[in-house]
Amino acid sequence: MPTYDYHCPVCDHRFEARHGMTEPAPACPQCRHALPKRVITRAPAIAGGMMTHPGDGRNASKEQLQDKWAEETPKLRKKLADKLGEDTVNRLAPTLNNTYE
Ligand SMILES: [Zn+2]
Repeated sequence: MPTYDYHCPVCDHRFEARHGMTEPAPACPQCRHALPKRVITRAPAIAGGMMTHPGDGRNASKEQLQDKWAEETPKLRKKLADKLGEDTVNRLAPTLNNTYE
């Protein structure tokens, strides 16, 4: 698991955090600010395109949305299917079979 350096723009605290590449930035341990800026101090092991930009919270929140969708949609779909039947759900709400894009 890689180590990342972060700088908090709120309290000016610098810290290191270890987490997976696809996980969002951790909150600042000092002031709990949720979006510290990632500081690139060494060449990343993985080339350019796949990396998120330092401090770019949008990628993290998109992943959170995808997680939320993946978690909530099957539950909602099941609830509707129990009530209305599979066929009706497929006909009326085909998007519930999609994954979040
Ligand atoms: Zn802070």
